Amino acid sequence: MIKIMRRRCFALILSLMLVLSSTAFAFETEMVSEVDFGEYGQQAYQYLQYIDKHLPDRDSDGGKNTLEAQQWIISELMRAGYTDDQIQLQDFTFENEDEDEITTQNIIVTLPGQSASQIIVGAHYDGTGTGDNGSGTALLLETACRLVKGDKLKETLAFAFFGAEENDTDGSAAYAAAMSDKEVANTAFMINMDSIICGDFCYLYGGVADFKKERVVDTDAFEKVYAISQRLGLGLHLIPWTFDDPAPGFDTPDYPSPSVGDWSDHISFAERGIQYVYIEASNWDIPGPDKQYDGDSETADVGRIMHTKNDTLSKIEKFFPGRALYHLQVFSLLINTVLTEK
Ligand SMILES: [Zn+2]
Repeated sequence: MIKIMRRRCFALILSLMLVLSSTAFAFETEMVSEVDFGEYGQQAYQYLQYIDKHLPDRDSDGGKNTLEAQQWIISELMRAGYTDDQIQLQDFTFENEDEDEITTQNIIVTLPGQSASQIIVGAHYDGTGTGDNGSGTALLLETACRLVKGDKLKETLAFAFFGAEENDTDGSAAYAAAMSDKEVANTAFMINMDSIICGDFCYLYGGVADFKKERVVDTDAFEKVYAISQRLGLGLHLIPWTFDDPAPGFDTPDYPSPSVGDWSDHISFAERGIQYVYIEASNWDIPGPDKQYDGDSETADVGRIMHTKNDTLSKIEKFFPGRALYHLQVFSLLINTVLTEK
């Protein structure tokens, strides 16, 4: 009896150790359980797996898989029903760190709607991370491929896969610079998807901070999209810091909510006076590595994922089981609802 008890005890400890070792790096994700996501986000997760496995090096400056990534995006678009004349490769050049002139491309896909008014939906496909920005690329591709099969939409949609975001947002800058004044005037707003799976919470950003008047302006697009997210019950987070309530140790917020910094492709459009909404997964409640409350830490448990060796799907799934799919589902349902709303 005692012997059996000892054995059982040993077996229990052993199985406990196994469970602990396999879950030692697993952290939970805040999820909203009552939302039915249907198919939204499922295809994006499959694209994410493909990018992670086959297209890890998409650096616009000589990345091993950059051209292959372009070809793959185009072939998926054509498989979904886009024709040659709906897909445009937009050449542009940028200067790399060695001051060499590099030529690369944006991929622009047009889905005509019933009005001349357009919405630009963009994500940068360059980079070497699965979260940054295989995730935005995957959701953009899912969205473009779904909507080409549906009813004609109210607005014309321009899906833009930007190159060279990691080189000072040069791809989106080239895109915005090539827009005529008329096209700018006809653009309702721009949606930017960058690094949407790794961070602790799903965020929505928008608007431009007026530091003199201590307010955030040009927030109509943000208000509209945020209202839709609330109606859907998606539990999106906003940057918590405002002019009245800056981050601990600050007199004024660097990024008063809901506005955000200039570190991604939305800025190229904001600079032309186009309103933007920007989706990201991050954590603004905790200080970043340089003690600023600027979302630079992404996760409370592991710290920043983007631009680290942890930005692979196996690491992301190990640290945060189920998070990548869940965040893709949240953002897919949101963006598809925004784009198809009558
Ligand atoms: Zn990025």
